[in-house]
Amino acid sequence: MSADPSSSEITQLRRRLRAFVSQAKENERKLGRLHEFEIRLISASGLRDLLQVVLEDYRESAQLQAVGLLLVDDNYEIRHLLDETGIDEQGFPGLRLISTRSALARHEETDGVWMGLYDREIHPIYFPDPATPPLESIALLPLVRGDNIIGYFTLGSSEPGRYIAGAGSAFLERMARFIAVCIENAINHEKVKRLGLVDALTGVYNRRYFDQRLHEEVQRALRARGPVSCLYLDIDHFKKINDNWGHGVGDRVLRQVAETIRRQLRGSDVLARYGGEEFVLLLADTGETLAAEIAERIRAAIAREEFATGGEAALVATISIGIATLADFETRDAEAAAQSLLKHADQALYRAKHKGRNRCEKHSS
Ligand code: GH3
Ligand code: MG
Ligand code: MG
Repeated sequence: MSADPSSSEITQLRRRLRAFVSQAKENERKLGRLHEFEIRLISASGLRDLLQVVLEDYRESAQLQAVGLLLVDDNYEIRHLLDETGIDEQGFPGLRLISTRSALARHEETDGVWMGLYDREIHPIYFPDPATPPLESIALLPLVRGDNIIGYFTLGSSEPGRYIAGAGSAFLERMARFIAVCIENAINHEKVKRLGLVDALTGVYNRRYFDQRLHEEVQRALRARGPVSCLYLDIDHFKKINDNWGHGVGDRVLRQVAETIRRQLRGSDVLARYGGEEFVLLLADTGETLAAEIAERIRAAIAREEFATGGEAALVATISIGIATLADFETRDAEAAAQSLLKHADQALYRAKHKGRNRCEKHSS
């Protein structure tokens, strides 16, 4: 005996439908913004860039009054990193390093996202740079890695209805997870740099790091009786580039060559600058055929590349590559095997030069 809905019920239904549609549209906008933000996070190069994206860019795109990043720095490690990286904390007023989480203990925080009204007594500590107009609602996002909270990302709005206690926080949780990983990676990378294992000019690993990894990978390959390959790469007639265009352009070519090689690599490959205009590449779990394919891909990519000279003309550079693959699995001496792998790649490179450059040659025993 269902009666037709009354007109007031219809009006109510329509209103609810409109509210749903508008909520869906708002969610879509949020998702789009989140996606864009994630892409910018991933493409940030280095800690400084990352801080810029997290603090400045996010506040602008999300139209917030305050954004804060509190990082737990119990043994002054991050502070030293910032100093040595030349990052001035004054340049990022939303950033605060805290010695322990108990500095924040006045807030009855949980391990999840907290949203609600801004409390002038207890919340100022979460906003190192409280902008005007005054904050009305906030979200506190713990940055979790493993079992640890490594910090907080905090968002402040002058609209009381922007962050409501108990409202859905899936978007913010996802964003916080993402930021936590990116911050940890950026800090780790700066640490590696600080240990002196990265080449200052090109940003790829240096000889010291490579020698260490080469030894480890050869050891592993001998144990597993699996393949490992090594490429020796040398820019052709680089002396002429310096002579014709100057050292500044030469340096830029070196950087661009490193970047071009890097774009061809997989996450497990180890690229290092081994000397002036020489690079070496370690390919774990890679046999001769695949190593030769990778080498050829790199050679072709460099030959295609245009290198800026600072003037109108662009210059073309080429690279020669020697390829060697571990073949003797009977030896017990990993260090000697590593050294001969590298020597074989160098010998193959010599042949590539001899045969006219801009080519790849495999070592032949
Ligand atoms: P080849 O094709 O036989 O490799 O010839 P090449 O000219 O590349 O080889 P050579 O070894 O004779 O010259 C390498 C040059 O690289 C000499 C050196 O001045 C230059 N070089 C080494 N390190 C740097 C650097 O950091 N910056 C610049 N601009 N030049 C460098
Ligand atoms: Mg050379
Ligand atoms: Mg050369």
